[in-house]
Amino acid sequence: MVDVEKCRMTRWPTPVLVQKAQPIEDIDDSIQALAEKMKDIMVEYKGVGLAGPQAGVGLRIFVASLDGTKENAKVYINPVITPSGTLVVNEEGCLSLPGIWGNIKRYSKCSIKAQGLDGKEFTEQAEGLLVRIFQHECDHLDGTLVADKLSTVAKIAARRKLRQLREDYENQNK
Ligand SMILES: [Zn+2]
Repeated sequence: MVDVEKCRMTRWPTPVLVQKAQPIEDIDDSIQALAEKMKDIMVEYKGVGLAGPQAGVGLRIFVASLDGTKENAKVYINPVITPSGTLVVNEEGCLSLPGIWGNIKRYSKCSIKAQGLDGKEFTEQAEGLLVRIFQHECDHLDGTLVADKLSTVAKIAARRKLRQLREDYENQNK
């Protein structure tokens, strides 16, 4: 059971963000509540996607909304992504790495298979911004962050910001 009351936006280097998330076996009431909470956090922080670890929960679930609204937010449980097309570079940020932006390579198309809150499996094809969101969120479920995918030059540029985030985290967890 997930304790939704404890769910908060997490920032790097919170351990749950760099660990592999676990599959969801039982879509119970706490998962329904978690999905609601994740949508709220995503909207509050003006994101277009949010993965379980970003709410402090190491489970394979993410929400995505192309226009950042709660109404259009869709829930993906135990997603499996199959990328295709060509690699496209675009600027990308992450709510868990505030202030860090980088040019990240992503595939231009994908198909995604996941379960909804009703437990039913569905498959979607994606292109454009949505395919970038899907790949970004699926990375989160494997403990991979955009900071891991930056070029060497961008990593050096992000060093100060990462040091600040680490200090903030250590101060909050003293
Ligand atoms: Zn992110």
